[in-house]
Amino acid sequence: MKYIIVTGGVMSGLGKGITTASIGRNLKNKGYKVTAIKIDPYINIDAGTMSPFQHGEVFVLKDGGEVDLDLGNYERFLDTELTREHNLTTGKVYQSVIAKERRGEYLGKTVQIIPHITNEIKGRIRKVAAKSGADICLIEVGGTVGDIESMPFLEAVRQMHREEPKKDIVFVHVTLVPLDSQGDQKTKPTQHSVKDLRELGLTPNVIVTRCKEPLIEHTISKIALFCDVPEEAVISAHDANDIYEVPLMMEKEGLTSYVMKLMDLSSDTIDNSWS
Ligand code: ADP
Repeated sequence: MKYIIVTGGVMSGLGKGITTASIGRNLKNKGYKVTAIKIDPYINIDAGTMSPFQHGEVFVLKDGGEVDLDLGNYERFLDTELTREHNLTTGKVYQSVIAKERRGEYLGKTVQIIPHITNEIKGRIRKVAAKSGADICLIEVGGTVGDIESMPFLEAVRQMHREEPKKDIVFVHVTLVPLDSQGDQKTKPTQHSVKDLRELGLTPNVIVTRCKEPLIEHTISKIALFCDVPEEAVISAHDANDIYEVPLMMEKEGLTSYVMKLMDLSSDTIDNSWS
């Protein structure tokens, strides 16, 4: 199983969900079977009890699971059907760890975030990925790197990076490149969010930058230098008129072929799904 982990920096609502769905769509076009998991670090069990004014519309899956709208994007972009297990929340993780503790399954051990919560997270991710029969599982970690709520999930994916073969895990970090008052593209927020990620032991392989307009050459080389990635790993995800243009934009930017190269996947499959 190959895993693509999508994290976000700087602020929420940048487009992690659309980035995850777009990468998945493009890999599906290459002939791979793709699935996706959304991690929501809130303590609610699911989105069913959350106010739409706070959280946006709830998306209801075929199995009745009430989840984040991102799963709706995954279903539409990947042309697939997901189940409630594809949405992992802090509430679900703690609920099952506490139930196991009450049943005595931890054999008297002190139940801790590491390893018990992180093992539960990894176990759930691997089980859902295997059950889906996919070649590639995308995992979007909701929230922003540095949030206290997402720490156990980021620690769990860090451990997965140690445990899985190196070519089986790719980290994609979505950040913001704002424009200053002169209209110049600024890289400092991206540099800081990559630094935050590194402090947690995670190194991004790909940096997807949301910006008003396409990144200029100078911005790409500066991000590559300061964030220690090749220039081809810096992807410009500028504002699109329609979100369905985003997969095409990312394909043009070379994101799919770069991710495939990192994962040692063959690129001689035929891209015919857009025809
Ligand atoms: P996150 O998962 O980071 O919270 P989403 O993927 O839900 O963000 O995207 C937030 C909003 O930004 C959505 O309304 C989405 O349609 C929009 N969006 C994402 N990427 C782009 C893009 N490249 N161009 C224009 N709008 C985008």
